[in-house]
Amino acid sequence: MTVDSILEKDLVGNEWLTEEELRFLMTVTDEETLQKIYKKAYEVKAAYVDKVAYYRGLIEFSNRCIKNCLYCGIRYENSKTERFDMSRDDVLKMAKWAYEHEYGSLTLQSGERTDEGFVDYVVDLIRDIKKLSNNELGITMCVGEQSEEAYRRMREAGADRYLLRIETTNQELFEMIHPKDALHSFETRVNCLKSLRKVGFQVGTGVMIGLPGQTLDDLVNDILFYRDMDIDMIGMGPYVVHHDTPLGQRALELGIDSQKGKLERVQLGLKMIALTRLFLKDVNIAATTALQALDKLGREKGLAAGANILMPIITVPEHRAKYLLYDNKPCVDDNADQCKECLTRRVMSIGDRVGWKEQGNSQHYKKRIVK
Ligand code: SAH
Ligand code: SF4
Repeated sequence: MTVDSILEKDLVGNEWLTEEELRFLMTVTDEETLQKIYKKAYEVKAAYVDKVAYYRGLIEFSNRCIKNCLYCGIRYENSKTERFDMSRDDVLKMAKWAYEHEYGSLTLQSGERTDEGFVDYVVDLIRDIKKLSNNELGITMCVGEQSEEAYRRMREAGADRYLLRIETTNQELFEMIHPKDALHSFETRVNCLKSLRKVGFQVGTGVMIGLPGQTLDDLVNDILFYRDMDIDMIGMGPYVVHHDTPLGQRALELGIDSQKGKLERVQLGLKMIALTRLFLKDVNIAATTALQALDKLGREKGLAAGANILMPIITVPEHRAKYLLYDNKPCVDDNADQCKECLTRRVMSIGDRVGWKEQGNSQHYKKRIVK
């Protein structure tokens, strides 16, 4: 098996990568060969989802969280994080800004809360955002594990998509990066993904890439999980150290946060995007902000390697610096106008166009619902 012989297959047409080929491509580290893989992934993207980047304006509306994921800067036990909740009016103002600036979709993201007050707040927001945009803005939710009933209410209020990362499909590793208690359960996460599908969402998941102890085989299995769960959209990015977290401390001790370590995680992140595109073809794949946290050109490299979704931050500057999942979050000093302009330049620099006013729903999802 050689990379060239695999890439000669008609992947743009009717041929598919086999699991063995996927496993083989995952071992490639030579930059020149990787570029060939990215190029092929870009061709598959152009054929299956077009050379269009769709924006999901990201509103980080609260950093309050009941969970304690060992990698995340806004975990419950991080007392150094100053907590905030955005008022409903502020969120609606941002949504209106996005609508008026021709965004096709929004993502509402926050720490996790499951109390009724929270769910009511979110459901009302979804309704109001749909109303203020004449039902035109697509809405992606990213508010963690909830009951099936809560998911149903969000869906019925008009939310279109839901992103819940599995974080890693290696259950042992999952348990190493979360506290060992009932609140942080791999099984619950998988069941949540099934509930999301059941209530009719376009379902997104993803993983962190380059976690301490994660192997290339784990990453291959992550892609197989996307296939087996019939996932519509993928949001994955490199693991980025947050210094005030237990995992961050361990990563710093292990020395994996050297410049070399960061470059390796960027490379792995891009390789995951490209291989997921080559293996699944028609799903939506995001080039995440975490890529850019480690590499200034991370997001455009992500688009060139097969991603088709970007999530420009539209959170007001006042709150941006408090929503810190990891160190070196980019764009914290910018406002929404600057982010829009800067990203659009990045999109055009690789030859894509922006899907203004288009929701950019997952082709994979569309095909499933007409089946
Ligand atoms: N609370 C929700 C949404 C906010 S967190 C949830 O957990 O689903 C959104 C994502 O940020 C998580 O799924 C995780 O993959 C990512 N994240 C958190 N800390 C991170 C870190 N240190 N590096 C990279 N990604 C991180
Ligand atoms: Fe909370 Fe999500 Fe961070 Fe976990 S990853 S601590 S659930 S915000």
